[in-house]
Amino acid sequence: MIDTFKKEILECRNPIITTHKGPDGDAVGSSVAWYHFLKKLDKKPILILPDAPSSFLMPFLKNVEYVVFDSENAINTADSNLLFCLDYNAANRVGSKMEQFVGSFPSKRIMIDHHPNPEAFCDITISRTNICSTAQLIYQVIDEMDLLELLDVEIGKGIYLGIMTDTGSFRFPSVDKNTHLILAHLLEIGVKHHEIHEAIYDVNTIDRIQLRGYAIAEKLELHPDYPLGIISLSKEELDRFHFQKGDTEGLVNVILSIEGISVAAFFKEENEGVKISFRSKGNYYVNEFAAKYFSGGGHKYAAGGQTSSDLNVTMNQFRSLVGELFQ
Ligand code: 5GP
Ligand code: MN
Repeated sequence: MIDTFKKEILECRNPIITTHKGPDGDAVGSSVAWYHFLKKLDKKPILILPDAPSSFLMPFLKNVEYVVFDSENAINTADSNLLFCLDYNAANRVGSKMEQFVGSFPSKRIMIDHHPNPEAFCDITISRTNICSTAQLIYQVIDEMDLLELLDVEIGKGIYLGIMTDTGSFRFPSVDKNTHLILAHLLEIGVKHHEIHEAIYDVNTIDRIQLRGYAIAEKLELHPDYPLGIISLSKEELDRFHFQKGDTEGLVNVILSIEGISVAAFFKEENEGVKISFRSKGNYYVNEFAAKYFSGGGHKYAAGGQTSSDLNVTMNQFRSLVGELFQ
């Protein structure tokens, strides 16, 4: 399998890299790492993002040729014979606008991903669900192809970013011995870990801090019957704090950090519906619940979904169903 994979990569022309909608640190980190790796192989890659990432991820795209997908402006795929699907397991994860583009790509598709239950839409599927991040998987496949000598600081920064953000800074159960060995190697080749932490965690705006303060002080509900914490924010509340993409990222983990809480749910009202984030620990798993009721999915302990209803309707729906998570 890795030999076929390596052959496709060595022979590809103008490869296209894609990742999921609402690109997070692992989506951006693994894409950036893969982009720089392909450059090292003298390829001319391009990264196509379904939408722009949060502002704190933008600096990582600095030396990357990328476009934000726009269905109005057709992307010329005629010269490309390979499309990579990084950090997603189903074509619809790139969002409704870009799904058609990924699905109708005329040449080969290769998935590199760590989400459970990958759908069969790629010609080669490298899916390893026990690995903490797609970024770690990127390192491992480079290693398995015997090409680790190509690793440099730009590739390494992307890998570090993806691992760090998908593991809650190296603390989730998904972290293994390999994760730390890889991190050690990245530091050895010159990746400045503290710069990456600062770029992600020390770039708060006052509005962001105050929105989070408000959400925790005024909007946090602890369920009377279950070890469940909930925060919901309406459009009006988000507007009050001049919400910018990324401002509520990680808030769901704050809920989960409360002693005795095993499931955290965060609801954010958007223009058309509500985006939901779930986190859990111990014996509670959130991905099937997210898939069954909220058109979503994800990992056992970190999942998400959405509705097309307003916040009140969504909250009522959630409250009537939530018992199922605790059976
Ligand atoms: P977040 O809460 O950070 O948006 O998402 C956490 C995880 O849940 C993501 O890594 C992703 O695996 C999954 N996830 C979030 N939203 C969706 C969704 O709409 N569909 C699917 N299939 N997975 C999602
Ligand atoms: Mn990931």
